Amino acid sequence: METNFSEKQLKDKDNKSSEKIFRKCVHCGFCNATCPTYQLLGDELDGPRGRIYLIKDMLENNKPANEHIVKHIDRCLSCYSCMTTCPSGVNYMHLIDHGRNHIEKTYKRPLVDRLIRNFLSITLSKSFNFRVIMILTQFIKPFRFLFPKKLKTMINLMPTKLPKKTLPRMKVYRAQKTKKPVARVALLSGCVQKVISPQINEATIRLLNRHGIEVVVPKGIDCCGSLNHHLGKSGLANQTFKKNISIWYDEYLKNGLDAIISNTSGCGTTLKDYGFIFRSDEYFKKKAKKISELTQDITEYLYDKVKLDFITQSTTAKKYKIAYHSACSMQHGQKIHNEPINLIKKTGNEVLEISDGHLCCGSAGTYNLLQNDIAKNLLKNKIANIEKIKPQFISTGNIGCITQISNGTKIPILHTVEIIDWYTGGPKPEILRKL
Ligand code: SF4
Ligand code: SF4
Repeated sequence: METNFSEKQLKDKDNKSSEKIFRKCVHCGFCNATCPTYQLLGDELDGPRGRIYLIKDMLENNKPANEHIVKHIDRCLSCYSCMTTCPSGVNYMHLIDHGRNHIEKTYKRPLVDRLIRNFLSITLSKSFNFRVIMILTQFIKPFRFLFPKKLKTMINLMPTKLPKKTLPRMKVYRAQKTKKPVARVALLSGCVQKVISPQINEATIRLLNRHGIEVVVPKGIDCCGSLNHHLGKSGLANQTFKKNISIWYDEYLKNGLDAIISNTSGCGTTLKDYGFIFRSDEYFKKKAKKISELTQDITEYLYDKVKLDFITQSTTAKKYKIAYHSACSMQHGQKIHNEPINLIKKTGNEVLEISDGHLCCGSAGTYNLLQNDIAKNLLKNKIANIEKIKPQFISTGNIGCITQISNGTKIPILHTVEIIDWYTGGPKPEILRKL
């Protein structure tokens, strides 16, 4: 694609990177074929190629965003299916991030939109705030019909009870059955996930400890920053990124870290991008790059680095038909697909393929709250494809998908790490007790 940035514009590091990406695009439109919003809405501007043109036009012409542009950019799920399809290697993720930051700087959203986005930014990125809101929601739930549509959706998506934790909160979880751990990893414990599904972190820690791996959960790290990053709130996101990078890098230098483990693929995708985000920051560049290099999804880490002890449980435990839902951030964002499937297969269970598995379930961070109609349609299609293959339960590696899918079906859904934990000597997950 031809570009027309001036020399002055190219002095800006973000323009410079985006220009290189625009130049790779050959307008072929292959990406439209696998874009969920293009498939649903059929408008060129609701597909990746159209959005690339909109972003290019704003940046090249120093044009402020307007309602029309914002509508189409906001409809993008950031599912990155287009990146998997693109034959020219266009990094759409960096373009849409740049486009969103530009919108946030140049466009004043309507008051209600601003209030909702600020509310999401404050509540979802801090586990304490989210816990308080979750408790309050229990009281207002019976009166949800009184609220506007968007708030009603948020209330509906809130879990009905606060699950109990079974592991005490500690900084270091020691490896079992060994004096010297075989590895030492940091776990990103997350913001929303640790409140609504603490069992995911607990399964991760138990499983790693049982296999001789020490797990450190440094104090002060909550959100990975992706929530504000995707809302275009780059100032807030950068504060979080810098804090996380400093804490993890310090731990890496002082006590050593073999990996930083993420068990939420949406967060893992962002951690792996810290290096790019700080590519021009003299102070953080080296540290951010190291954090990105150390980051691995839990399934990637287990598959590559851990000799899992499946033997005892696998031969005796009951076997199931499991539908594996590949989260977009996992398959398109991190290009991890076979590892979780192969891990589940090693437990002796049958993995069922979901048709149109490359398409998003509609969760996409805060998307199901901000673009509820599109998200609902995507969920409906996903559930139809899942129920068609009649699984006994579903497995995935992203809390957003777990919340979204469980709102559309009664089929139980588990994080992949809970299955691996169970078949290597951990407890049977609570929601499968009756299966
Ligand atoms: S990220 Fe997803 S929704 Fe956005 S343009 Fe690409 S394929 Fe379409
Ligand atoms: S598939 Fe890639 S090269 Fe083709 S239009 Fe889409 S982004 Fe551009």
